[in-house]
Amino acid sequence: MKYPDMFRVEPGTRVKLSQIDPDYKGDDKDQSAVQDELAKLTKRLAELQYLMYAECKRSFLIVLQAVDGGGKDGTVNHVIASMNPQGATVQPFKVPSAEELAHDYLWRIHKVTPAKGRVVVFNRSHYEDVLVVRVHGLVPPEVWSGRYDEINAFEKLLSDNGTHIIKFFLYIDKKEQLARFKQRLEDPAKQWKISESDYKEREFWDAYQNAYEDAISKCSTADAPWYIIPANHKWCRNVAISRILVATMESMGMQFPAPSVNIEEIRRQYHAAKESR
Ligand code: ADP
Repeated sequence: MKYPDMFRVEPGTRVKLSQIDPDYKGDDKDQSAVQDELAKLTKRLAELQYLMYAECKRSFLIVLQAVDGGGKDGTVNHVIASMNPQGATVQPFKVPSAEELAHDYLWRIHKVTPAKGRVVVFNRSHYEDVLVVRVHGLVPPEVWSGRYDEINAFEKLLSDNGTHIIKFFLYIDKKEQLARFKQRLEDPAKQWKISESDYKEREFWDAYQNAYEDAISKCSTADAPWYIIPANHKWCRNVAISRILVATMESMGMQFPAPSVNIEEIRRQYHAAKESR
């Protein structure tokens, strides 16, 4: 299977994470083997984002979900680094505020979805409302279980209005999570990321895996597909995501808008200005 189809969850598929290898590298031997390609993809991504901004007809929503330590921040850095901040932003979602909780759960999400011409990367998303909320019973089962259909309807609304949606689950295993927690402990530049809940949440690993399996199985649609990215190797994760993003954006058929002025006339003006210098 080729990009961008690789790792995509076809609608209707019942996902079993235990059947997916988070160490998977495919044909890519090691980081040095993909370095040149990655540089080219990063450059191409910047060009495509510029094209989207110039065309200003559609938008692109990239959703990132993962367990703690799964690499969301690293992916954000990697994906967004090449893009122009004028047209591409990152939107994190933390524990909802009192005001957010006083509204429906999609209220805080909808207002930060990308406007035409823009790329927005969600670092966590509305899926938290069927993940952490489900795992910790923050609302009753009859409430969270109705949310999959609501999310599909919401994403269809966005898609019908010109927002292209792509969702990545960065899949690491429990061993890799612990290794990354250890790095955080030992690296003063990473210690600030350590949270009290890191180890507590780890105790709910299986419940999270089940919740992810349900969310991905029920909400991978033609309009807004989920991709499960083997993410134990950061370089593999980055190259996979870059390939998928580039292939997806290239398939959108975007075009620069026609100039709003008569170019021949402007050219004449330019030459006249040059001669009378
Ligand atoms: P991050 O881990 O994303 O870098 P934090 O350490 O601040 O940032 O964690 C954000 C926390 O907010 C996570 O524990 C996440 O589960 C929680 N969260 C996000 N959305 C919701 C939600 N809708 N309901 C409850 N908790 C949420």
